[in-house]
Parts: sequence; structure tokens; C-alpha cells
Amino acid sequence: MNHTDAGDDAGGSDGAGYSLADARARDEADTLADYRAHFSVPDGERYMDGNSLGLASDTALATLERVVDEWKDLAIRGWEAADPDWFHYGEHLGDLLAPLVGADGDEVVVANSTTVNIHTLVGTFLDTLPGTPAGPDPSADPPAVLVNDLDFPTDHYAIRAQFRQRGLDPDEQLVAVESRDGRTIDEADIEAMLANRDDVGIVFMPSVLYRSGQLLDVGRITEAAHDNGALVGFDCAHSVGAVPHDLRDAGDSGVDFAVWCSYKYLNAGPGATAGLYVHERHHGATPALAGWWGNDKSTQFEMRHTYEPAASAGAWQIGTVPMLSSAPIEGATELVRDAGIDAVREKSLALTDYLIDLVDEYLGDDFSVGTPRDHGRRGGHVAVEHPEAYRVSEALRDRDVVVDFRPPNVVRICPAPMYTRFEDVWQVVETMRDIVETDAHLDYDARGGGVT
Ligand SMILES: *Cc1c(COP(=O)(O)O)cnc(C)c1O
Repeated sequence: MNHTDAGDDAGGSDGAGYSLADARARDEADTLADYRAHFSVPDGERYMDGNSLGLASDTALATLERVVDEWKDLAIRGWEAADPDWFHYGEHLGDLLAPLVGADGDEVVVANSTTVNIHTLVGTFLDTLPGTPAGPDPSADPPAVLVNDLDFPTDHYAIRAQFRQRGLDPDEQLVAVESRDGRTIDEADIEAMLANRDDVGIVFMPSVLYRSGQLLDVGRITEAAHDNGALVGFDCAHSVGAVPHDLRDAGDSGVDFAVWCSYKYLNAGPGATAGLYVHERHHGATPALAGWWGNDKSTQFEMRHTYEPAASAGAWQIGTVPMLSSAPIEGATELVRDAGIDAVREKSLALTDYLIDLVDEYLGDDFSVGTPRDHGRRGGHVAVEHPEAYRVSEALRDRDVVVDFRPPNVVRICPAPMYTRFEDVWQVVETMRDIVETDAHLDYDARGGGVT
């Protein structure tokens, strides 16, 4: 354990130099501290769930209210007369998000949900591959999609469904890289899988694993996929807004496609419209799930029955942009853009470093950290493992600490950088220490169900 620079200047009250005063001193020194005032932090709570649902901000509510007013005042005229106009709003938000993912404006659009975007993008790229009914050589052996066995479930459900719709057997074609430790995926195992089989058509991986918080090496995986003739896509739900990306240039040739949610680190509200990225070299491909909103905007209202996909990521829109679920993205991302994604990442790492140090220092041997300690392999949250993680997380919730439990033994703690203070992290660990020292968690039933 390394506690060298902690608390030197803050008069820590114990040997290791950690104290509430030290936590407050860190907040004093935090150049992003003022952003917290924009957010509605539930009264008296330590909110550590920003990777599941980010908090409301005054800026997000302001753009939402503006669109509500436009609806009242302009009604149908809003499609053209609103500012920015609603007709191009998905593209407009794409321009705003592009710098956060390292892409050009026309490579990003806000549309659909993350799951729907996985359907349409994986489906689109399957249709370009030999061995699929719509592909260049339908009689060739069918392509595999390479995923991993720690993925968020919806990714597998969607990809399996896309195989079924092409008459292909998902049990054969969906291939999962196995985790060695149940927490992380070793990029070397992805490379080995690619080297050992010649049927992988698409590699689809998360940027950050939703449970352990491991950040995968997007550039390395992109290069490995391309070197082996496969396309590569990423599910960036757990990284966009907390971790900078370089999608267009990653691994020299750039990621082919990506998806992400707007309601986690982007703080745009429950079920907010998702984002997607398609590299410029694929613009013009025919989306698997076509709809009029993906038509070339200049001819969309000619209402022809021939679909002309837009020559941009906008082609992967399907139906009318959901204005009320998209408008908060505009105001919410204003704060992240203003802070700068690199500064946001720096604060996020400082918060998770601090959290990991406190867990090491104050929580007993029953606790361990399942998240990689190396900055290059860590996303924005920390998986704290404990054999009674479910009961500990229930006890935390009753003490106004909002975390979530992920089976079998993980308390996920997310000190989201836009609104979490070092003081909050300190209090969370103190509360955990108190719970286990008094055995308070044993008052709770062993695991139940529900949304956490
Ligand atoms: C949150 C999350 C999703 C959610 O998808 P929705 O379609 O918004 O429900 C998908 N993938 C990952 C990795 C996630 O973390």
C-alpha cells in the first residue's frame, strides 16, 4: 500500500494521514468543485450511483424547459423554427458529443437506445460480411462475433437476435473470450482468440466493464481486430463522459462503430436518447434497421418510397428524434465540455485513487478491490468486493449512501467526477467501516431482487 502523498498538508488525525479534514482540503484544492452546485444531489445523500443514473443539473433542465416552451409556442413549426431546429437535433447533439469521443461531428448522432443501436450497428456490419444472407458471398462460412463473458447482458441478447434473424445459430456464432479471474478481460486473450480462428467478422467489446470497472485498451483491441481482418465496435456506456476517447484514430485505423448511453456519466436523465458513432469510411452503408429519420435530410420530406441513407452517422437514426428525451443532453454535456473531458478524467482518477486507498486502509480483510489499480486500466467506478456485499449495500442505502450491488459479491461505488466530493468518499468508507464493525449488515436478509 502506498499512502505517501495523502494528507501531508491537512493535519490528518491518524497515522496514515487520512481524516475528514484531509478530505475537505482535497475538495478545497479541486478545480472542478464548483460544478457540484449545478446538480440536484438528493438531500443528505452520498450519491455513488452516477454510473447507473447521473444526477439532474440546472443546465440539463434548462434545455429541456426550452424545448417544452418551444413545443407550447411553436407547435409543429418547431421542426424548423426552433433554435436549434428539431429536424436536425440528433445531428446537432452529435456535433456536441463528438469531441467527448474523439470523432468528427458527422460520425456521431444521438438516436434510439443503446440496445437498439447495438441491434442496428451489429446487424449493419454483419450484412457486409461473407457468410451472411445479404453479404458478398452468402455461401461462405458464417462470421463469428467476438464478445466476452463479463459483458452487460443486453449486448449478447441483441447480437444473438441479429444472428437468428439471418438464419444463423447464435450458439455457434457468438464467441465469448473468457475472463481469467472473473473480474477482468485480458487483451492478450482477445488477441489469441483472433489469431486462433479465422472466422471472426466483428469484435464487439465494452470500453469499461460494468461490474469490475476495468478499462479495456481500445487502441490495442482495434489494432488486433483489424490485423485479423475483423471489424471492431465498442459499447462505451460506462465510459463516455468520464473517460476521454479517440474513436476515430484509435489503434491507427480507428474504431468502426460505437454505442453509449446518455443517462450515466452524461447526466441526461432516465432513458435519455443514446449516442452512436460510425467511422466515416462506413458512411453510405445500409442500416439494418432502416427508418425515415435516417434518410438523407434533403429528401426526407419528399416522402419517396425509396430509402436514401444519409451520408453520415445520421443514417442510423430510425424514427423521429425524441425531443424531450434528447433535450437534456444539450444542457448536461455543456458542463462536461466546459470542464474539459481531460480534467474530468483527472478528477475521476483522483477520486477513485482516494477511495481505493481508504478501502485498503480502513476496511478489514473481508473487503477487496476488484478494479484494476493501474490508471490505464480503470474506468470511473470501483468494485468493492465483500462476501456479504448484498447486505452491506442494503445497510449503506439505509444510511443514505446510494451504491449498487452487482452479483455475486460487488458493491459498486461511483464517485462521479462532476458532482462528488472527496468528503463524500470519506463518509462512504466511514459508513462501511461502521456497518461491518457493528455487524449492522447482518440485520438484512440475504439477497433479494429489484433494480439497484
Ligand atoms: C447501461 C448499459 C446499457 C443499457 O442499454 P439500454 O438500451 O440503455 O437499456 C447497455 N450496455 C452497457 C454496457 C451498459 O452499461
